[in-house]
Amino acid sequence: EAKTMGKNNCQFYTPRLTARLLDRVQIEADLRVALQERSLEVFYQPQVDAISKKMVSVEALLRWRHPEKGLLSPASFIAVAEESGLITEIGSYVLNTACHDAARWAEAGFPLSVAVNLSPLQLLSADFYEQVVHALETSKLPAARLELEVTENIVMHHTPSTVNNLRALRALGIRIAIDDFGTGFSSLSYLKNFPVDVLKIDRHFVNELQHSKQDEAIVRAIMMIAKTMEYVVVAEGVETQEQANILTELGCDFLQGYFYGKPQPFAAYAFTA
Ligand code: C2E
Ligand code: MG
Ligand code: MG
Ligand code: MG
Repeated sequence: EAKTMGKNNCQFYTPRLTARLLDRVQIEADLRVALQERSLEVFYQPQVDAISKKMVSVEALLRWRHPEKGLLSPASFIAVAEESGLITEIGSYVLNTACHDAARWAEAGFPLSVAVNLSPLQLLSADFYEQVVHALETSKLPAARLELEVTENIVMHHTPSTVNNLRALRALGIRIAIDDFGTGFSSLSYLKNFPVDVLKIDRHFVNELQHSKQDEAIVRAIMMIAKTMEYVVVAEGVETQEQANILTELGCDFLQGYFYGKPQPFAAYAFTA
């Protein structure tokens, strides 16, 4: 009986695995076309000052306007982009677009900062520093208005050259943010020598903030570290007024989430020239 079950399992799984593999190959092929045809788009989500509630910056978030599947979020294709190495090219496209768009907002009288997510592979590129400097130079965006977001997992697997690149970029005035802070598989000790300016509190700590003493304690602890280390703190995933009030009371500097606005295309921002 076990034998037949094993056989059944085999028959059951093989086609599915094959389908998944084909899926990946198809996604990768489609992604290459998308990159050429510019159907990858950069959306922007507002970040507001916690006290004044003024919009001071945006986070650039990648979208794929797929011909058949509609508007896709990174969750459905970032992994394939990483595994195929396409993420380096995609990341550079996002960086250039974000810098150009932020510079256009500034020209229109709205000098916002822009935060760009980095993938581990991008940071490992030999010409990463040059790519960022090039994006700033061609867009004429001041370095002080660019923030680069890295995850704790990137921080953990950094090489001396990653740190040197980030340090050099920081010396130009670019800010480095730790995204999804508190959710990675890393110890806090990296904060002693990794260049950091901003901590982004992950939305999972914000979700239940109104009801959870645990989440509140975690946010308080993050705020204490940030204060001592002189980091700026951004909270992600703010969906309610109550969450915003608590985060502001706890000393959070900036707030980001659906309560203030969903990610939207550049053109959706009314102040666009
Ligand atoms: P992230 O950098 O942590 O970005 C925040 C994510 O939370 C975004 O998802 C955003 O749409 C979502 N979000 C914002 N406010 C709220 C809220 O109030 N409630 C809820 N439930 N969600 C909220 P998105 O755009 O789907 O992006 C997912 C992740 O994909 C990003 O997480 C980031 O890690 C990655 N990603 C996005 N764009 C890029 C990119 O250009 N390059 C790379 N390497 N990764 C990217
Ligand atoms: Mg981010
Ligand atoms: Mg995040
Ligand atoms: Mg996240």
